[in-house]
Amino acid sequence: MSKLYSRVTDEMNYFEGKDPVALAKEYQTPLYVYNERILRQRCRDLKNMVKYPNFVVDYSAKANCNLAFLQIVKSEGLEVDAMSPGEIYVERQAGFAPEEIFYIGNNVSAEEMQYAIDAGVHISVDSLSQLEQFGQLAPGHEVAVRFNPGVGAGHHEKVVTAGKKTKFGIEPKYIPQVKELLKKYNLKLIGINQHIGSLFMTGEAFTASIGALFEIAKQFPGLKFIDMGGGFGIPYRKEEGEAPLDIKELGEAIDRAISAFVKEYGEQVTFRIEPGRYISAECSVILSRVHSVKQNHDKKYVGCDCGFNVLQRPIMYDSYHGIEVYRESEQPSKGTEAVTVVGNICESGDILAKDRVLPEIFKGDVLGILDAGAYGFTMASNYNNRLRPAEVLIRENGEVVLIRERETLDDLMRHMIPLNV
Ligand SMILES: *Cc1c(COP(=O)(O)O)cnc(C)c1O
Repeated sequence: MSKLYSRVTDEMNYFEGKDPVALAKEYQTPLYVYNERILRQRCRDLKNMVKYPNFVVDYSAKANCNLAFLQIVKSEGLEVDAMSPGEIYVERQAGFAPEEIFYIGNNVSAEEMQYAIDAGVHISVDSLSQLEQFGQLAPGHEVAVRFNPGVGAGHHEKVVTAGKKTKFGIEPKYIPQVKELLKKYNLKLIGINQHIGSLFMTGEAFTASIGALFEIAKQFPGLKFIDMGGGFGIPYRKEEGEAPLDIKELGEAIDRAISAFVKEYGEQVTFRIEPGRYISAECSVILSRVHSVKQNHDKKYVGCDCGFNVLQRPIMYDSYHGIEVYRESEQPSKGTEAVTVVGNICESGDILAKDRVLPEIFKGDVLGILDAGAYGFTMASNYNNRLRPAEVLIRENGEVVLIRERETLDDLMRHMIPLNV
């Protein structure tokens, strides 16, 4: 046996002929397994979604910031955004030139802003006070401003990042103050940007928001770019046949909006999008070993080694991840049943899936947790002093390479300073 319940990965040929149970044995679990072919395909989907020539896809690296991962994204001709000096640093290591990095700061210190200025990357500020700080640090410099046109979208309150109830961006009514600050510090506004939120599955909110953003852009002649933001969703409920976002339809809607805008604006501005999840989510599966199966009162629990220190999305956002079952032995499952799949963290909220109907699972089985490549490893932690997992990449030729070592116990001690007691 081996692939007992694996329709989604089979259809994608996710493991490229490799046996997930063998991978789990060789590299141990929990393990992030990436697929290079699918990653490259997602990059190409987006690069080609719009016909307008001056169109740039900035990969939003907070979704997945592994070095090898960024190198692949770079080789596909994408650029990147950054949310912190740490992301700028790793992106530079991955080969992105400063001008290919767009730093979208939010409430950052003067030191952090200075780091970005010194790094020579494009910088966006998202409040009047941050614009003032930027002006003081770099008078005469180029800058971008993040607006909040009042349209938001997203799968969970915590990921809606525009609209009336969020901390992000500058309200359009402050445009006169923005202009005053630009003048005061002799700043050149080169771009405006927005990001309405994460994981929309239809294009309406996005299309509405770019209409609002373009209205703002008309008040600033001479822009080099307009960044429309990310948030492109992926179907997490693949086993239930959830349809993907219609990228072709959305691309056509964006093209229509762009050509109407450019005609009126009179300049061939560059348009950017900055998706993270769409590019990185579907090219990763976490392999996790089942260490215990038990009945507790009226529920059956499947206990594995993928706690929320490895994958935080379910506890953080109530997110759904598809789960597959792989097995080495020939022992058949007696049928399907509803189980609650939990990790090994000492908290009752450590739940990967509640009442999920799966084939009968045995101790020793390997679970495949699907669509884990976005906000997966980047949100992993050492909670409970657990070690962050290894990451491997299945290359296009089927070769498997290690792209991050599993942490060791020594790593836990690295920054600790013992007392002299
Ligand atoms: C997180 C973020 C993105 C990417 O969001 P996705 O939903 O992963 O596409 C883009 N832009 C900004 C400013 C963000 O904070």
